Amino acid sequence: MSIAARKFLIGLILLLGAGAGIGWLYGHADWGLLAAALLALIWQARQLLSFERALRTGNFDDFRQGEGIWQQIFSRFRFEHERAVRRKKSYRTLLREIRKSTNAMPDGAVILDAGNQIIVCNRAAKELAGIKRKKDRGQRIDNILRDPGLGKLLRSGDYKSTIEIMSPVKDGDWLNCRIVPYGADQKLLLLRDVTERMRLAKMRRDFVANASHELRSPLTVISGYLEAIADDDNVPETWRKPLVQMRGQTARMRQIVGEMLELSRLESAGPMRSDKPFDVPALLESSREALGGHANTARITINVETDAQLRGKSAEIETVIINLLSNAIRHTPSDGEITMTWRSGEDGADLIFADTGEGIDPEHIPRLTERFFRVDRGRSRGDGGIGLGLAIVKHVLARHDAELSVTSEAGSGSEFRCHFPVERVVMTPAIGLSQNCNISVT
Ligand code: ADP
Repeated sequence: MSIAARKFLIGLILLLGAGAGIGWLYGHADWGLLAAALLALIWQARQLLSFERALRTGNFDDFRQGEGIWQQIFSRFRFEHERAVRRKKSYRTLLREIRKSTNAMPDGAVILDAGNQIIVCNRAAKELAGIKRKKDRGQRIDNILRDPGLGKLLRSGDYKSTIEIMSPVKDGDWLNCRIVPYGADQKLLLLRDVTERMRLAKMRRDFVANASHELRSPLTVISGYLEAIADDDNVPETWRKPLVQMRGQTARMRQIVGEMLELSRLESAGPMRSDKPFDVPALLESSREALGGHANTARITINVETDAQLRGKSAEIETVIINLLSNAIRHTPSDGEITMTWRSGEDGADLIFADTGEGIDPEHIPRLTERFFRVDRGRSRGDGGIGLGLAIVKHVLARHDAELSVTSEAGSGSEFRCHFPVERVVMTPAIGLSQNCNISVT
C-alpha cells in the first residue's frame, strides 16, 4: 500500500474515531460516528466532483500541489496520460513515415479485407488504377478493376500466380497484379505498370509473326521449284541425293515457319470466344487415322470413358491431339502401346496420352513447353522434331482454361494429361449410353 493510501486510511479511522468519541461525550456515540462518516463522504464526493470537472476542463490546478490520495490519483493519471500522448505522437509520426514511403512507391498497393473490400491504398494505386483512398474505401476491388482474370485470381486462393490486366485509367497500359495474403484474412494487392514489358513482348511477337509470314512465300516458291526439278528426268543422277535433302530441309523450314505463325496467332489471340460443345472421341479417331496405321507405329488404343463434350474450338483441340499423339508415336517403339483416354469426373475432364516409350528424365519435364526445347536436339532434328509442339499445346490449353501435366520416367513411358475445368465440360444427357460408358477402340 502506498504512503498516501495508508495516510488516507489512518485519517479516515481518526475522523470516525473522533466523531464516535465526541458523540460518546454527549451520550450518542453512534450519532457521532454517523456524523463523521457523513463528513468524510461529503469531502470525498467534493473531491470526486472537482476531479471530474478537472478531467472535463483539463484544468488540474487544484490537484497539482499537496500529497493526499487525490493528488496521488492525479499524478498517476497525469503520468499515464502524458505517456499515452507521447505514444500517440510517435505512432502518428511512424504512420506518417509509412504513408510517405508507400506513397513514394512506384507500385500500387491496396489493402483488402476478407471480403475483398478496400481498406486503404497508396497514391500509386490511384495513378495506376484510379482507386480513390477515401471514396472507394469499403468498395469491392473487383467492382473497380473489372477484369474476369482478377476476380478468378481472388477467388482461387492461388496467390503464387500473377496476372496482367488492362489499365482502367489509361488505354493501352497494362498492370501486373499480385496478391500477397497476410494476417488472418487480409490481402495486399500489388499493382505494377508492365506496359513497357508488354510492349516489348508484343514487338517480339509481331517480329516473329512478320518474319515467319515473309519467309512463307519464298519458301513456297523454292519448294515449288524443287518439286519441279525433282520430277524432271533430265536432272543428272548426282543431283538426286542433294535434291532429296533440299526438299526435306525446305519442308522442315515450312513446318517451322507454320508452327511459329500458329504460336504467334495463339499468343496474340484474345480470350477464347467460341464455346460450342463438340465431341472429343471423333477427334481422337480422326487423328489416329491420320497418324497411325503405319508398319513401324506402336498400337494405338482409344479409351472413351464418358460421353461428355468439351466447350471450345475443336480445331485447336485437334492440334493438341495431333501434337501429343505424334510425339507419342515418335518416342514409342513399334512394339509399344499408346493409349488416348477421354474421361470426366466431378472436377472436370481429362484427355490423357499414355505411352510405353522411351520416357523423359524428370529434370527435363519442367522445360518441355519452352519454345525450341528438345531433350535430344540431334535426334529430334533427325525425326522431324522442332520443339514447338508442346509450346503450342500449352497455349491452346491455356485458352481453354486447361492445364497440361506430365509424368514420365526415362525408360518407362510418359503420360501427358490435359485437365479441363468443369466450366469447359458439357455433360450431355445420355441417349442410349450410360453416363460412364467405356468404349475401347483399338
Ligand atoms: P518436338 O517437335 O521436338 O517433338 P515438342 O515441343 O513436341 O517438340 O516436344 C519437346 C520434347 O519433349 C521433345 O523433343 C521430346 O524430347 C520430348 N517429348 C515429347 N513428348 C514425348 C513423349 N511422348 N515421350 C518422350 N519424350 C517426349
